Parts: sequence; structure tokens; C-alpha cells
Amino acid sequence: MQKIRKILTVILGVLMLIAIAVALVSCDDASYTETQVTENPETGEITYTARGVKFHVVEIDGCEYIMGTRMYSDGEAGYMSHKGNCKYCEERRRAEQY
Ligand SMILES: [Zn+2]
Repeated sequence: MQKIRKILTVILGVLMLIAIAVALVSCDDASYTETQVTENPETGEITYTARGVKFHVVEIDGCEYIMGTRMYSDGEAGYMSHKGNCKYCEERRRAEQY
């Protein structure tokens, strides 16, 4: 019984060491975790790249949206969300106050 307990303790210790090693190594690549900002000199469009996802702001039907796209080996996936500080919504809020 004590032998089984000792083996389980060793296995648990090894698993904890592996978990710590993975946690320390996975966030080490600064180029992957830092946000990079690039501006297209011709259009003025700003693109943010963070964690392998490219973000840019698009204007559709009187609102600003953040569009994120990620490239995969078999294509690309994207999503869109209303920009929290949308300048058009802010203008409408200000106009309603006065
Ligand atoms: Zn809006």
C-alpha cells in the first residue's frame, strides 16, 4: 500500500513539473504576445496584430466595428464586434444630451 502511495506521489510530482515547464515556456515569445501596430501609408488604415490575429476597424452603416482575422493553414477565420468607443455612437449620445 505504501509503495503505491509513493509511486502516485512521484507521478503527481512529475506532472506538476511538466505543467510548470509548459506555463513558463508558452508565453515566452514576445513577438507573439506584444501588439504590433502598422499603418498603411496610402490608405491610412491601421492594423493591430496580437497573438497571431490581425485587427482593424471598419465602418458599416454608421458604426465602427473591430474586425479580427486569423490565418490558418487551411484558410482564414474572422469575426466582427461593435467597437466599444465607436465615434458615431458617441456623437449620437452627445447630440441627444443637448
Ligand atoms: Zn456604434
